[in-house]
Amino acid sequence: MDRLFLLETGFVVREGLRVDRLKMSFLRAFLGGVLVLVLPALALGEARVLGVRNWSSPTCTRLVVDLSEEVAFKEISSAAEKDLVVEFKAALARTEPTQRIQDSLVAGVALSSTREGTVRLKVNKKDSGFRHTVFLLPRVDGRPVRLVVDIENPAAGRRLQEQRKAVQSEKGGKAKVVVIDAGHGGEDPGAVGCRGTYEKHVVLAIAKALQERLNRSSGIKAFLTRTGDYFLGLRQRVEMAKEYGADLFLSIHADSSPNRSTKGASAYCLSLTGATDEAARILAEKENSSDLIGGVKLSADHDLNTILVDMVQTQTINESMKLGGMVLGFLQPVQEIKFSSPRQAGFRVLKAPDVPSVLVEVGFLSNPEEEARLKDPSFQARLAQALSEAVCRFLGRDPAQPILVKDGARDLSKSVSAKSTRGSASKKEHVVQPGQTLSAIATMYNTSVRELKSLNQIQEPSLIRPGQRIAIP
Ligand SMILES: [Zn+2]
Repeated sequence: MDRLFLLETGFVVREGLRVDRLKMSFLRAFLGGVLVLVLPALALGEARVLGVRNWSSPTCTRLVVDLSEEVAFKEISSAAEKDLVVEFKAALARTEPTQRIQDSLVAGVALSSTREGTVRLKVNKKDSGFRHTVFLLPRVDGRPVRLVVDIENPAAGRRLQEQRKAVQSEKGGKAKVVVIDAGHGGEDPGAVGCRGTYEKHVVLAIAKALQERLNRSSGIKAFLTRTGDYFLGLRQRVEMAKEYGADLFLSIHADSSPNRSTKGASAYCLSLTGATDEAARILAEKENSSDLIGGVKLSADHDLNTILVDMVQTQTINESMKLGGMVLGFLQPVQEIKFSSPRQAGFRVLKAPDVPSVLVEVGFLSNPEEEARLKDPSFQARLAQALSEAVCRFLGRDPAQPILVKDGARDLSKSVSAKSTRGSASKKEHVVQPGQTLSAIATMYNTSVRELKSLNQIQEPSLIRPGQRIAIP
């Protein structure tokens, strides 16, 4: 309401500049009256409701009330009631369209204001057994203050957790489990492209394409941390990887930079001792802020920083670096590579102690050309194919062949990586791609330049050419 008054006041003052002195004295008296009405609200710093948003995951519904100021809130209802009622002092300037908010957990949401300047949020849960959490998120990264209401279905949460643990106990010795993590989601869009593309959508599409390919490969079962547009905390993602008993964890992201010409893919692993370079440290900070942006209720950090965990993790990091090198090697024919080897920093999502974990930034959404390509499903498919080949190579499995198009010809979008697929699978042969060096090929196949040189009788490594077939030991 105070915003409306201020707008009216501004209008009167602008008009007043053109009126005569007599009218001005009338205006002064009038404005005095208006200011008496406006000032108490401003003096109190009264919060205004700016909007209401909602997200649904398989186990949780999240409601977010955007506010202009921090508020004190109180729950009016008891925990066992079906209706959750929360009240806070704020102004509701317009009717929020809450009637559309309905999903498997919530039957309805209503937001109303009382005469005492209090806003009442009523959430009708579908089951009184659903748990709720209400908390306030402070301003972060240009976002307003947010009152968050999470409605959780604990039974569904337990069921999914049991399913994840069953994957681990049933996998036996042969099958390998891969957990693919699409970064961000829900409240947290991640990087935003120069034409408005959201990282969370691009990386989910690539993650799904990768899962589909890996599940067609023999001896691999691939799972996603998030399957839709909702937020998961970084710790939750790590926990899921551990529950699945993952043999490998790949977190997929897309980067952004104030410099629109910055481009290329890069791979990152965890560091226990500090970042390898300043850029990696800043990136880790940015990716770690996902919890703040997406909204995790702050609690004590339960990291098990024992010597034992560190020792296991150090061994795991060595494996992760190997995987990161393979990821970059297999991506190189498809996408420009920013750094030729994996960088390291304190990425919280890579902290599963005994799961080789890599975070891959597939390109820059802030670069107009890369944004256009990253949005393109055929380019996403090529990235997914390259990532699946790296994963299969790391796990010692044969990658699935790209799907044939209807006329029997290979899908052109996948032809580049298809060549190396055939090479790496049965013939142990690699077809050199434009721009590929012998050392990049050695990294891809976890071998050395010396071994490749002697096996292929190559005198001068710099003289390999695109299309050349290289035998792989
Ligand atoms: Zn990201």
